[in-house]
Order: sequence, then C-alpha cells, then structure tokens
Amino acid sequence: MIATAPTQPTNKNLFDLWQRLNLELGNNFDTHGVCAAIASELAEFTLTTAVVGTSNPSQNYFDVWISQPHGRLQQTRWENKKSSFTPMLAQGAAATLSKMSQSPAELVQSELWRLAQDSILCVPLPFPPEHYSYTPPTILCLLDPGPYSSITQDNIEELARHLTVYLDRAALRHRSDRQEIEFATIYDITYSLTSTLNLDSIIAQLSDPVRRSLDVESLSIGLIEPASGDIIFVTQLMGPLFQNMAPIRLKAGQGIAGWVADHGEPVIVNNVYTDTRFHAQVDRDSGFQTHSILAVPLVIENRVIGIVEAINKLHGSFTDHDLRLLRMVSAPLAVAIENARLHTSVLAEERRVKTIFENMAEGMLTVNAEGRVTATNESLLTLLHKENHNLIGQRADQVIKIDSEHGFAHFLEQILQSDDEYPQLACNLILNNNGRTHVPVLISGAPILNEDDEVYETILVFSDLGQIREVERMRDDFFHGIVHELRTPLATILMYARLLREGRAKDDQAKADRFLGVIERESDRLQMMVRQMLQLAKLEASHIQRSSEVIQLSRVFDQLLPPMADQATEKGLTFIQRLPADLPPVQGVEETLYLIFKNLIDNAIKFTLSGTVRIDAQTEGKEIVVRVKDGGIGIPKEALPNLFRRFYRAQSAVEKGIAGTGLGLYMVKEGVEKHGGTIEVQSTEGEGTTFTVRLPAAPQ
Ligand code: ATP
Ligand code: MG
Repeated sequence: MIATAPTQPTNKNLFDLWQRLNLELGNNFDTHGVCAAIASELAEFTLTTAVVGTSNPSQNYFDVWISQPHGRLQQTRWENKKSSFTPMLAQGAAATLSKMSQSPAELVQSELWRLAQDSILCVPLPFPPEHYSYTPPTILCLLDPGPYSSITQDNIEELARHLTVYLDRAALRHRSDRQEIEFATIYDITYSLTSTLNLDSIIAQLSDPVRRSLDVESLSIGLIEPASGDIIFVTQLMGPLFQNMAPIRLKAGQGIAGWVADHGEPVIVNNVYTDTRFHAQVDRDSGFQTHSILAVPLVIENRVIGIVEAINKLHGSFTDHDLRLLRMVSAPLAVAIENARLHTSVLAEERRVKTIFENMAEGMLTVNAEGRVTATNESLLTLLHKENHNLIGQRADQVIKIDSEHGFAHFLEQILQSDDEYPQLACNLILNNNGRTHVPVLISGAPILNEDDEVYETILVFSDLGQIREVERMRDDFFHGIVHELRTPLATILMYARLLREGRAKDDQAKADRFLGVIERESDRLQMMVRQMLQLAKLEASHIQRSSEVIQLSRVFDQLLPPMADQATEKGLTFIQRLPADLPPVQGVEETLYLIFKNLIDNAIKFTLSGTVRIDAQTEGKEIVVRVKDGGIGIPKEALPNLFRRFYRAQSAVEKGIAGTGLGLYMVKEGVEKHGGTIEVQSTEGEGTTFTVRLPAAPQ
C-alpha cells in the first residue's frame, strides 16, 4: 500500500480494510499469526503504530506485536503489571486514554505508554467481552491515532467484533489441533502399552506423555493389594520427594483414591482442601503439596484393580476433557497392568517348575504329541551317559531304548490310553555306547493336558534302580555290620559271665580277675562303639550349611592337642606339632572338625608302637592343609582302597589286637567332605602313615 496523507474516515475506506483483513486472515488459523496480521494491517491502514497484546493461558504475561506504519513488525513479551493492558481489559469497552491522565508511576512502569506520545485508542478482544469465546484476553491499541484516523473510538468496536471471529476461529482450530495431538499421543501410549509385559517399563512409558497431555505436575498409579484391599502407590512415578519413602499405602476407602476405587467412578477435585475425602497425611509425610486431583479407576472386567491419578493441574482447572483423556488411558493401562501381573506370576511359576525339574535326582523327560523330546534334565542325561547332548526335538523312542518286549513307544501309548492310574515300567535302559550296557530303571509317566483336556505333552520320570538298590544294600550292610560288631563283644561278655556264675573261678582269684577284666574290656568296647555310632548318626544327619559358622582351627587344636600329646608321651612316643599362628579360618562346624582330627591323631598314636607322631598345618593357596604323620605299623597296600568304609579294619590291626570299631576313618571322610574338603592317605607297611586333609579357607 502506498502511504498517503491522512484522509477522513469513510465507509469506503473501512470496506477496504474489511476486505484486506478477510484476505489476510481468511487462511490464518494460528492465534499468534492472526494477532501479528491484525497489527500490521491496522498500522498500514491507519498510518499509526498498532499494538496487539494477547495473554498466555495462565494469564501472567502478554505476547505483544508492535507494528509501525511502514512494515516494521516487532514481537515481544510483556509481564502483566508492566504492560498496562490489564486496566484496559477491565474497562470492557473501547476507550481513548490520554497520557496526561496516567499517574507518573504508571508511566514509568508501562511498556505501552513508553511508545505513545499523547493518547492511545484501545479495545478489548474478544468483543463484546461477555461473548462466549475461545480467545484469550487480548487488547488492540492504536498509538496516537490523530484526528484524521480512519479508525476511531466510534468504529473500533465494530472492528473488534469482526476480529473476534478470526481470533475465535484460530483458537478453536488450535484447540482441535491440540486435541488431535492429545488423541494421537494417547493412541501411541495405548499402542506401546500392549507391546510390553513389564510393569516398570509400562509406567515409565506412560508417565511423561500423559503428564504433558493433561498439563499436570504429577501422575500416580495405585494398585489394590488383593489380600488386604489396601491401595499401594507405585513410587517410581511420584517424583524425587517420594524416592526414599516407604511405598504409600492407603487403607481401603481412604482418601480420594480409596473413594474412587470403592465406587468405581472417576472424580475431579479442583480444590482438595474443600473435599472431606482428601487424605492429607501423604502430603505431610512427603512435603508434596496437592492442590487438585483427577482420579480414574483402573477396571478389568468390572473389577477395580487400582486407580490412576493426575495431580495438580498446572494451568487452570481439571475439565471434562481431561477426564475423558485420562479415561482413555486408564482402560488399556488396566489391561497392561493385569497382563504384566499375570506374566510375572506365570514367569515365577515357570521358574519354580523348571528349578524342580532340573534339580530332581530322577531323570526327567517330556515328550510332545508327535513323540519328540521337548525337555530333559541333567539326571536323565547322566543316566543315558549323554551329558553333553542336546536331545530336544529328537524322537523319544530313538533316544530311549529299553529291553522291554514292546519298546518305549508302546509305553508312551499306554500312558495316553490309561485314564487314572498311570502305568509304571521296570526295565533296563540300553545305552548306546556299545549296546551292551544296561541300567535298571523304573519309568513312570503321566500326560499333561491343555485347557481343552487334550494331551499336550507326556512327562516321564526315570528312577535309577541300580542306585536305589545300592543305597539299600549299603543300609543293609551297615545294619549287618552293627549287629555283627555288637554281637562279638556281647558274646564274649556273656560267656565270661556264665563261666563266673558256673563257679569256674571259684577258688582262683587271679582267674576271676582275668574273667572280669575281659568283661570290663569288652563292655568298654561296646560302650565305645555305641558312642561312635551315635556320633556317626549325628554327623550324617547334620547339615554343615545350616549350622555352619566361621571357625578358627587354632581353637580346635588348642582343645584337642594337649590331651593327645599326654596320651602319646605316656605311651613313650614323641609328639610334634607345627601349627602357624595365622591359619585362616574355615567355614564349618567346630564339633565335626574336632572329631576329624581327634580320630586321625588317635589312630596315629594307636597304630604307632614306638617313634614319632607329628601334626602340622599350613596354608596352600585357598586351602588349609593338615597332615597327621606317624612312624607306626603302616597299612598294607590291599587295605588302602577299603580304609574309609564303615567297620573296616586292616588285618594287621586286628592281628596285633589293637582295639577299634572301624568307624573312625569313615566318619573322618564324611566330615571332611561335608566341609567341602578332601582326604588322602600315604602309607608303607612297617614304616608309617600320613593322612592329608585339605579344607577350603572361609571366604574373607
Ligand atoms: P575306631 O576309630 O572306630 O575306634 P579304628 O581306628 O580301627 O576304630 P578307623 O579309624 O576307621 O578304625 O581305621 C580303620 C583301619 O585303618 C584301622 O583299623 C587300621 O587298620 C587302619 N588305620 C587307620 N589309621 C592308621 C594308622 N595311622 N596307621 C596304621 N593303620 C591305620
Ligand atoms: Mg580309629
């Protein structure tokens, strides 16, 4: 537009302005764009400086456009109290204000008055102010319009009415755009919710976008604990103030959250202090300040599983629109939480079953409907001598070969056909390595059904009968051993007692003494045996892990060695001990450690007729090594493999009449192994024996 001299306002002129504005604003759907266009069009048209200021949603500042007549447009931001717009808005109508009428204080403060020479023509938008509008409070000003301006106090209100339409249109579009963005965000959230089964990551994904969409300070999710009905809040969401607090727990029905969970209805509370349901304790504990709450129940199949709360709307109050948004999130959120919970419990169950399966002493095998292996455990692989094989996917009847008439496939069939009582089969596994190795087993099987009662897999348990028989045999041996060992001294005692009663030593005191001596010695032996057996039973039943503590070996030796040394010297032996002061401790049971070394030293003294018994200890790497060495009778080579068996005594010991039950070394070995250690023996007949015990040092 060419600048012309000021002209009288005419209708023609105004019509031009209308047309220009229609052209400029017709396609402008952005509030700020509309404000800028208004400012520059009016400045050009009136040849005065035009100012448009529009307030932000929370109304604490104005975005301002200042346009000079010849195209210079400036955009800035003024704080409310410095802008001078607020009194103009309050007027609610067009006004011409003169600079003279402003107080000096206002003039100094005002950004606007700094630009004007004499007067300002202003009008509030939307116009009329009482008109229902989406436009934020806005002011249009012409600075120093002059007497010939085509816009005057008379026609500016009509202009304002006209501009309100454009501003409203832009605000509406902004709103619907924003809603579109919100809905898109919600869509994204719900989409991503369905793609994860991890509760933490669901909450992490959800929190920021929802908080932003709702324009709130904080979002919290409370889940109902099924057992108590209490609502427990997910602290992760609640911000730094809650980080070091115990999880927040509301009793059923307590607080606004409790009310929502109880009633299954959402609620908007824009001022919590006027609501009697509000539970202020949480704020008192955390230092957080709650003002407003929007809470929605999380519902699955008519069952409330928790609530989601938006806390403290940042600008303005919660509206029905916010409620709709949060409801949209709450439905998929409830499903996602439920899925995550189910998934977690399924995982836990799966782990439990897997642990049992893997740690069973029996061999375990599952076979699918096609007869292929779906899972095996270590014990089965060991039983089949296939430790490093992967059998998954192979045909079960190829993997399991048995010497039964009908074969393994037939047994699988039998399991499927039987209704209640599942079959068992005692047979021999034929191992592949040479086709001749047989392992006696008992196979039991049962079908696993799916929810439609169809057979999904078959589970089979292989018990190693060889091992079971071995254990039974050992137990029988032990009892036979006990009976035998007890019978011998008892028979002797009985015999001498009978001789005495029959008067065979009647007038012979020396003979009677000898008989009584035998009875006494055999009774001692019986007593010793019973004591040993009790110790043994105790040892076998004990669990080192359960009763274990950190033990200083030096303490054990301090108790044990002095009486042992006395015993040795009394017998005329030399007793040497070499124990460093800084032996590391071991993890274990003191009584058992005492028993181990007592038996070894006891043997060394017992089986040494003359010479030296020596005990020394040292640290080797992470082990403590204790050696008990004697220069005694030694052990025949052929006796060495049996030395640690129950009741075993070498022929040489028996022949020399050295007393004992043959339980000592067995107990020593048990004890050492329970401590995670090892024992070995070196011996030369006639020269002497060395027992070496290695125990792991306790971890620091
Ligand atoms: P117990 O310890 O039950 O009273 P024991 O000493 O005969 O009886 P073990 O300690 O189990 O039984 O030892 C088994 C056998 O090993 C002994 O009978 C003996 O033949 C042989 N033996 C053990 N220690 C020695 C040793 N230091 N020197 C020679 N022989 C030994
Ligand atoms: Mg012994």
